[in-house]
Amino acid sequence: MIKAAQKILKDIFGYDDFRPLQKEVIENVLKKKDTLCIMPTGSGKSLCYQIPALLFDGLTIVVSPLISLMEDQVNQLEALGVEALMLNSSLSADEYQKNIQLIQQSKARLLYLAPETLLMGRTLALLESQKVAAFIIDEAHCISEWGHDFRPEYRQLMDLRERFPQAVCLALTATATQRVQQDIQKSLRFDKSASFVASFNRENLFLEIKQKSQSAEQTLDFLARFPDQSGIIYCLSRKQVDEMAEFLQGEGYSVRPYHAGLSSEVRQQNQASFIRDDTQIMVATIAFGMGINKPNVRFVLHFDLPGNIESYYQQIGRAGRDGLRADCLFLFAYGDIRKIKYFIGQKKESEQVVAHTQLNALVGLAETNDCRRIPLLTYFGETYNDANCGMCDNCLAGDQASRDVTIPAQQFLSCVKHSKQIFGAGHIIDILRGSKSQKVKKFGHQELSTYGIGKDFSKPEWFYLSRQFVQKGLLTQDMHHGSLKLTAKAWEVLRGQLNISAPMEELQKKRPQTKTEQTYDSKLFELLRQLRKTLADSSNVPPYVIFPDKTLIEMAIYFPQSEAAMLELHGVGKVKFVKYGSSFKQTIAEYCQVNQVTEKPKGGSSGKLTSSSKTIGTPRHQVVGKKFNSGSTIEELREEFKVQNKTVLDHLYKYCLDGNVLRGNSDFLELSQLSSRIQSDVCKAFKQYGTLTLRPVFEALGQEVSFEELKIIRLHYLANEQKNT
Ligand code: ADP
Ligand code: ZN
Repeated sequence: MIKAAQKILKDIFGYDDFRPLQKEVIENVLKKKDTLCIMPTGSGKSLCYQIPALLFDGLTIVVSPLISLMEDQVNQLEALGVEALMLNSSLSADEYQKNIQLIQQSKARLLYLAPETLLMGRTLALLESQKVAAFIIDEAHCISEWGHDFRPEYRQLMDLRERFPQAVCLALTATATQRVQQDIQKSLRFDKSASFVASFNRENLFLEIKQKSQSAEQTLDFLARFPDQSGIIYCLSRKQVDEMAEFLQGEGYSVRPYHAGLSSEVRQQNQASFIRDDTQIMVATIAFGMGINKPNVRFVLHFDLPGNIESYYQQIGRAGRDGLRADCLFLFAYGDIRKIKYFIGQKKESEQVVAHTQLNALVGLAETNDCRRIPLLTYFGETYNDANCGMCDNCLAGDQASRDVTIPAQQFLSCVKHSKQIFGAGHIIDILRGSKSQKVKKFGHQELSTYGIGKDFSKPEWFYLSRQFVQKGLLTQDMHHGSLKLTAKAWEVLRGQLNISAPMEELQKKRPQTKTEQTYDSKLFELLRQLRKTLADSSNVPPYVIFPDKTLIEMAIYFPQSEAAMLELHGVGKVKFVKYGSSFKQTIAEYCQVNQVTEKPKGGSSGKLTSSSKTIGTPRHQVVGKKFNSGSTIEELREEFKVQNKTVLDHLYKYCLDGNVLRGNSDFLELSQLSSRIQSDVCKAFKQYGTLTLRPVFEALGQEVSFEELKIIRLHYLANEQKNT
C-alpha cells in the first residue's frame, strides 16, 4: 500500500520523499484506522488525506471551516489533475448544481464542505447515496471549546459519523495544546494510540529578535533583504497598520493594509492581491492570516509585540510553508509591553494572571541569550536539545560574553531592601539614578544611601538588568502590583557570597545578518516567475498553484530541457508537466541558448537544495578573529562575511573577550576619524578606566567621542598599546 502512496507522491505531486509522519499517518488511514494528526503549519497535512483519497474506492469528504481554504485546495488539486469539488455559498446556483451532478455520477474523489453545508438534510441524502470512504476533519481544533476558533457546528460532526460507519476518520490540526488535543480525541471517540504529533520546530524559519530603536530604519533595512519577495508585517493597531502601509508606499514598496476596520470587500481584494503576487507586502493586524495558504511568504516582521508566544508562533508560521528559508524578525520594545499591560488591565481579574504569565514568557523569549527555539518549543511542551540551531540570531552570534554585574546587582537589591520591598522596578531605578520625581520625594527616598549611586547605567539598561535579576532568581515579582521582593539568593549576593554575571552588550548589540544563498540563476528565475504569473492570471489562480517557488529555483539551477529532466524536479508531476511543462521548457531553452548555458543533471539529489546558509560549529567571532590574526584586513573580512565594518569590529572585540590577543596593526586607527591627539587621549582613558565598559571613558572625555569611535580605539588599545604597558 505504502508503495502505491509513494508512487502517487512522485507521479501526481512531484515530490520525492515524505515529510516526517506523513507516511505513518497515511499508512494508518489506509488501514482504515481513525487518526488524529497534529502537525505545525506548512508541514504537509493536506497530503496525509489527499493521497489516501486517491487510493480509496469511494468519496473522501473534507470538512473545512473556511471557503478560502477550500478554494485554495480545490485549485491546487485541479492543477494536479485530481477530481476535487466543493459545495459552499461561494458557488453560483449553476455551479452548485453541476457539482451535485458530478457527485451523483461518482466523478469526484474529494469533496470539500463547510460543516453547515454538510449537516443540511439534502447534502446528507446526497452523500448517503454514495460510497463514502473517508471523512476528514480539517482544522479539527474548531471542535474544542478550548481552541481559539471554536465552531459549534463542529460538535455535531461526531453524530454524523454514525451515518457513515464504513468511512475512516482523520482529524488534522496545527494546534498543539494538550487540552485541545484531548478534547478532539474525546469528542471524536478516538483511540489514543492513533495520534501522530509532529515536532513544532519549523527548521526553515530564521528567528531574530531585536531591540526596537529607530524602527523605521530597522524596517527598511529588513525589507531591503527581500526585494520582490512576499512578506507580512504585523502591527498592533489599525491606525499603525495604516500609517505603516502609507510610509512604505512612500518608500516605493508594493504594499496593502489589512485590518478589521476595512470593509470586507477591501479586505478580500487586498488579500487576493497579496496571494496573487500583485502586492508584495501585507501590513496587517492579527485579523490577517487565518485561511491564508500562500506558501511563498518569505518574511514576517513583528513591528509590535504579539499577544503571547502562541500568537507569535502562529504568525511566524505563515512564513515558509514551502519549506524554503523564511526570515522572522520581531522588533521588541519595552514600551510596547506597557501597551499590552494596558490591554491586560482591561481583562477580567481571573484572566489577568494568565495573561501576565504569558507576557512574561514572551519577554523571556525576547531576552534569552540561548537559542530562540528553546523557550519557544518549551512553551509547547517540547524539549529542544540541539546545541546550535544555526537558524536564530543567538546561535549565529556565538557565545556572548557575560560580564560580572555583581556590583549593580548589589546596588539594586540594596535599594529594594531599603525601600521596604514594596516598589516595582521603575521606582527603584528612579532612586538609583537620582531622579527628582514626585514619588521619590513623597517617600523621602532621596535620603536613602542608594539614591543616585546608579548613574552609570541608563534607564533601559537598568530595566534590562532588573529582569535579569528576576530571571536569575534574585527577586520575585508580585503578579498584580509588580513589587519586587528579595529571595534567599539575593541575600547571598548582598553578603558578597555570590557573584552574578549577565551579557551586557545585549542592549547595544547589532546582530549579524545572513542572506539567503543565491545558488540559482536569478535572471532565469525572474523570467520563470513572470511566465508563471502570466499563466496563473490567465487561469485565474494564484501563481503557486502553477508551481511553487522551489520548482522555479530548481529550474534555475539545473536548466532542464527534456521531459525526463523536468519530471525530476520538485513539484513537477505528470499532469503538471503536460499542462505547463512545455512553456517552461521553452523559456529555459531560449535562455540557455542566449547565455550559453547547458542542462545540469539533478541526479536524484533530492532535497539537497539548501536555501539557508547555516553556520554550525565554530562561533563566527572565533572564525573572524583567527582570520584577522593570520593577516586578513578588516576590509577583506567585511567582504568575505558580507557584513558591515561595525560587525567585524564587534566580532574582534568578542574574540578578545574570549582571552585572545589581536595582532599588532594600524588598521583600527585608519578607520577612526579622530585626530591623533584625541586618539591618544582615548587610549589614556582606557588605561585609566579599563576596557570592559565604555561609559566611564565616554564620561571622562566629556561625552564628546561617540561610542562607535570608542569601540574602534578600544580595539586599537587592546591590540597595540595594552601590550606595551
Ligand atoms: P499544512 O496543511 O500542514 O499547513 P500543506 O499541506 O499546505 O501544509 O503543505 C505545505 C506545503 O508543503 C505545500 O505546498 C505542499 O505541497 C508541500 N508538501 C507537502 N508534503 C510534501 C512533501 N512530502 N515533499 C515536498 N513538499 C511537500
Ligand atoms: Zn538557535
